[in-house]
Formats: sequence, structure tokens, C-alpha cells
Amino acid sequence: MSTAIYSHADCLRHEMGDWHPESPDRLRAIDDQLIRSGIDGLVERREGPLAELPALLRNHSEAAIALLRDNLPGTGEYYPLDADTLINEHSYQAALRAAGTAMAATDAVLAGDIANAFCAIRPPGHHARPGGAMGFCLFNNVALAARHALDGHGLDRVAIIDFDVHHGNGTAEAFRDDPRVLMASFFQHPFYPYTEPEPITANCVNIPVPARSGGDAVRAVVQEYWLPALHAFKPQMIFISAGFDAHREDDLGEMALVESDYAWMTRQIMAVGREHAQGRIVSCLEGGYNLSALGRSVVAHVRALAELD
Ligand SMILES: [Zn+2]
Repeated sequence: MSTAIYSHADCLRHEMGDWHPESPDRLRAIDDQLIRSGIDGLVERREGPLAELPALLRNHSEAAIALLRDNLPGTGEYYPLDADTLINEHSYQAALRAAGTAMAATDAVLAGDIANAFCAIRPPGHHARPGGAMGFCLFNNVALAARHALDGHGLDRVAIIDFDVHHGNGTAEAFRDDPRVLMASFFQHPFYPYTEPEPITANCVNIPVPARSGGDAVRAVVQEYWLPALHAFKPQMIFISAGFDAHREDDLGEMALVESDYAWMTRQIMAVGREHAQGRIVSCLEGGYNLSALGRSVVAHVRALAELD
């Protein structure tokens, strides 16, 4: 079985101005590096559909959806949702496409059609709260995909691993009281979005780490916290909030990971997936703003997903 890379041109049409680091060039940089690395020909390319309203309502309020849908500005204009989250005329379509793509990848993996998937999608999702957009994120793609696996496919337990430099506060809020979901992450602290670290429980293993933490610190978090929790929880499917802004070259974070750390983390998650989840993994792009480091890190992540190393 193969690894698929999902994306769609709609995800390039949402943009927030030339100054904004969360830009369409991020997806182009990923494509460039995938092609340059030669792995583009070894993985399957797929497109996803637009998310439909009932699926969005599993994780988001009517008001959160209406905020995007009913405020789309004219051509060349932007409508601000917060200080650094804006929408243009294409943003609702892009957000529906990103969420629909994550759910379609979930369908394909659960059907046994592909082994696992990486969704090269934007806008990203993990800061998006059930009640509204936040921090470059419009809809919470990973949360919607996890709810699709639980409520759409009847799974009982899924894990969400978040290795973005920022805390996935929207995901944590969505599943705080849901014993069907284990969320495991590390995040730079104190740092945006300035949420207080949650207490560590059987289904919430979000570990704050200080600025300048590198691969050694992150590997210790994975071994001491993530892996014991994952093996105890026995997820039937694993989702990854794959942000690459903890890379040492990324100016939006202050951590010091390199490509080999992303490959190592991915292999650890793959091993848990093989043991408990029939290898079922759907990974969704979150942050990552240094275009070169982003492209190289995605290549390392996808090589590990496709077991090309
Ligand atoms: Zn981030």
C-alpha cells in the first residue's frame, strides 16, 4: 500500500497579503522540494472535495462558519478576523477544501485504499477553536478529520499528535472532555497562543518546552510522555498536526529542530500506528514559514511515512 499526498489549487487562492508569512508560497515550496527529492514520483497525488456543512458542524458552531461565509470581501480586499488572520474572496472555499481534503484522506486510509496520507493544505487548522477562527487558522482540519473518523466511521479511539511549535489550543479545546481522543504534543512555552499548559491526563499529553529546545529535548518528550500514553490508549487511527515551525531556521518559532528530528518523530508515530492502528495515519500541514526548511522537512516527513528511508 502506498502513501498519498493530498492537495488542491483552491488552497493556493486564500492569501492574507504580501507581508503575511502564511502564504501560498508555502505549498509551492513543498511541491518544489518533493519534486526535487525524487519522491514525488513514488507517492500518489490526490485531490480532496469541499467539506460539507454537517461535517463542519461536528466541530464548529454555526457562528464560526458564518463568520467566514458571510464576510468574504471583494477582489483584492481583505476582511480581518483577528490581528493576523484575514480572509480574501477565496478563503471560505480554501477552508472548505482544506477540511474536506483531510476528511477524504481519512476515508481513503480507513478504506484501506492507501496506507497513510500527507495533506499539503492551507489554511492551517490547529488554532481554530470550535467557536471561531484564530491564529492563521479558519477551520480545524485535524479536529474535523478526527471527528469524521469517530462520528462518520464509528471508530472508538483516535490520537492526535501535534508537533507544531505552537500549542494546538483549538484542538485541545475541542477534545478536552472527550475520552475518545488522545492529544499529544510539545509546544514552545511561554509563546503564542499564551494558553496555560493543561494538566497531563490519560488523554491529554501536551508538554511545554522552553525556547531553544532542540532534538534531544523533543525526543525525550516523545519517549517519556507521548509513547507511554499512546501505547496505553491504543488508538485505532492517528492524526498528525504537522507543523514545521519548530525548525531551527524558522523565525516564527524559537526552537531548534532539524529535518532528521521530523523523520525520527514520524518513525516513532509509524511504529505506534503499526502496533495499534493498522498503520492508519493522516497527517495535515499546520505551520512552517521558512520556505526552504519547510520544504526539506516535509520531504523528511513524507519519506518516513512512505518508508523510503
Ligand atoms: Zn505554528
